[in-house]
Amino acid sequence: MSTVEDTLTGNAAISHADRTAVFHSWSAQGALNPLPIVGGSGSFVWDADGRRYLDFSSQLVNVNIGHQHPRVVRAIQEQAAILTTIAPAHANATRAQAARKITALAPDGFSKVFFTNGGADANENAIRMARLFTGRDKVISRYRSYHGNTGAAIVATGDWRRVPNEYARGHVHVFGPYLYRSEFWAETPEQECERALHHLERVVQAEGPDSIAAILLETVPGTAGVLTPPPGYLAGVREIADRYGALLILDEVMAGFGRTGEWFAFDAFDVRPDLITFAKGVNSGYVPVGGVVISDAVAQHFDERVFPGGLTYSGHPLAAASIIATLDAMAEEGIVANAKRIGADALGPQLRSLADRHPVIGEVRGSGVFWALELVADRGTREPAAPGYMQRLKSGLLGRGILPFVVDNRLHVVPPAVVTDEEVAEGVAAIDATLTEIGPS
Ligand code: PLP
Repeated sequence: MSTVEDTLTGNAAISHADRTAVFHSWSAQGALNPLPIVGGSGSFVWDADGRRYLDFSSQLVNVNIGHQHPRVVRAIQEQAAILTTIAPAHANATRAQAARKITALAPDGFSKVFFTNGGADANENAIRMARLFTGRDKVISRYRSYHGNTGAAIVATGDWRRVPNEYARGHVHVFGPYLYRSEFWAETPEQECERALHHLERVVQAEGPDSIAAILLETVPGTAGVLTPPPGYLAGVREIADRYGALLILDEVMAGFGRTGEWFAFDAFDVRPDLITFAKGVNSGYVPVGGVVISDAVAQHFDERVFPGGLTYSGHPLAAASIIATLDAMAEEGIVANAKRIGADALGPQLRSLADRHPVIGEVRGSGVFWALELVADRGTREPAAPGYMQRLKSGLLGRGILPFVVDNRLHVVPPAVVTDEEVAEGVAAIDATLTEIGPS
């Protein structure tokens, strides 16, 4: 047996310990060199050598309330002193109150919450509910989506991560609206919307309408590129789901709880889902949690029938306490309104002005604190910027003290919802300087 140091100080020691003991997500392990982070506050984090970074990633687009919000930290500490854990079969006041805080934000007719450990198992259980409720099997979701890394959720996912993981059955994919790289030869948002809906309906018909349990969509696909749907798309999907007796599940794991400048991203659209999945922003990941907000019709289906699903940590008291404190602080401090204002008055205009000066930016899209810059080698052909260019961009931003979120040829600009005007200006100036330094793709 080797000896283990009790304390690790300094970036080098932490990095070394990490590389010898920790197996990381989604990566070949050999070439990894993760940045050590030891503390944070608001929009900033810092490493063990005292270097500060402006977190323009919100980690995995989840720290909506910012790092170490004192009220949430205190709520977790206070709950830990009262009751750190209790089995899901018991009634618990903190858990019930967290569920009520969430349903109060949902449309009328959503009175129950099933808590999970995170976003993947929220989708897993929403799919299970839809299958049991409809007595049908298939689930339609989008290419260009991410729904989590478990059995059905990863196969519902529409990016490269699905392909090595296809062990679940009954999943069908469609293309959704994405005008900048239209699959439908569309030139306007109206055409893109109409053709994407036609495509979806034809797939439903071809798959056998009586076999479709649910259509599962991220309200605004996030990791796939912040693809805000054109007006009418989500309402059109709702109509198709109703016409063929399928449920509509909206995945609000990344888009919900302030990210788009709304409590739920679908609040900005004319649509009402049957099931809502959430995680991330509901408590900014201070304790792992997710869940399904269940419409009354689906909830009542399980009044007399057993729901064959559960988790040891469903409704964990530390998570529940952190949800209550997060949602209270977000409401009282106007954090969702801040995200909306920052998007409209600061991030949106400043990112668009960057695009005026840097031809490598092919498109700027988003709202709230949920933006993507699509970087291209050529604005005419829209050829994506090469991986080497994206790597230089990432290194340049890190060198300027900005934590970036880079996916494929895109820079996602996704700061916490508490970000200030000064912090936005600092981050955008760093992007500007980095793009100037590295030049065209
Ligand atoms: N759904 C969406 C839209 C997500 O962005 C993610 C995570 O990024 C998930 C589901 C999965 O959540 P988790 O990683 O908590 O399982």
